[in-house]
Amino acid sequence: MNAASNFVAELTWDEFREAAAQGGRPIMLPMGSTEQHGLHLPLNTDQLLPTEVSRRVALAHPALIAPTLTYGYKSQQRAGGGNWFPGTLSLDGSTLVALVKTVLLELARHGVRRFCIVNGHYENSWFLHEAVDLALKELRWDGVRDARILLLSYWDFIDPDTIAKLYPDGFAGMELEHAGVMETSMMLAAHPNLVKLDRAIDHPPAKFPVYDIYPPRTELTPKAGSLTSPKRATAEKGTLLLEVASRGIARTLAQEFGVT
Ligand code: ZN
Ligand code: MN
Repeated sequence: MNAASNFVAELTWDEFREAAAQGGRPIMLPMGSTEQHGLHLPLNTDQLLPTEVSRRVALAHPALIAPTLTYGYKSQQRAGGGNWFPGTLSLDGSTLVALVKTVLLELARHGVRRFCIVNGHYENSWFLHEAVDLALKELRWDGVRDARILLLSYWDFIDPDTIAKLYPDGFAGMELEHAGVMETSMMLAAHPNLVKLDRAIDHPPAKFPVYDIYPPRTELTPKAGSLTSPKRATAEKGTLLLEVASRGIARTLAQEFGVT
């Protein structure tokens, strides 16, 4: 018999029951979006990257991976280019909060007590905090007091030394990495068949004011949709980024939840 998968969706119900019964075994929940990523990356980039990071974490730490949530909060101009690009499909904040809260409560209903939300789309951030807070409150009402939830974004585990190595000519900042060297490199490492590097547009980093304006001035976003040039992306850089992020998260799981 094959060893049971780390991906919850690939388990049978009795395999899941057994895995979830080990209450100390954490479950990762990759959080994505369906969002334009320039002319060279697919709309599911923010789904695939946290899923791949989670897959690698689970090779180092005995964690399960819940089905990736494929929709996220509305793309913001200064972080994701903007919500008007064709194919960008976003949730209202209240919908996203309700969705994530429900998934956490469903997993808890089946005995899971250790969670790690692995965010792959910046705009989700505060809504995830809200979902976690509401889920923990409802669990307390049900008398469940031992649930613990880590909430993290994978790019926060990319340390300054790695940045210096990958960007010898200077780093424009994480907020401009949308469809830039970082995401493109990781996609080249994990899903090269989905990257159309010949369509990548070389352009200077986007220049935004320090405030938002509604309705957005769409001309402030580079035409292709990426916020920095992806031209220097390579699969080698992507492999390093995936390794650094997954190693950091695996270490965090061990530190916060102990080794199961
Ligand atoms: Zn992205
Ligand atoms: Mn995004």
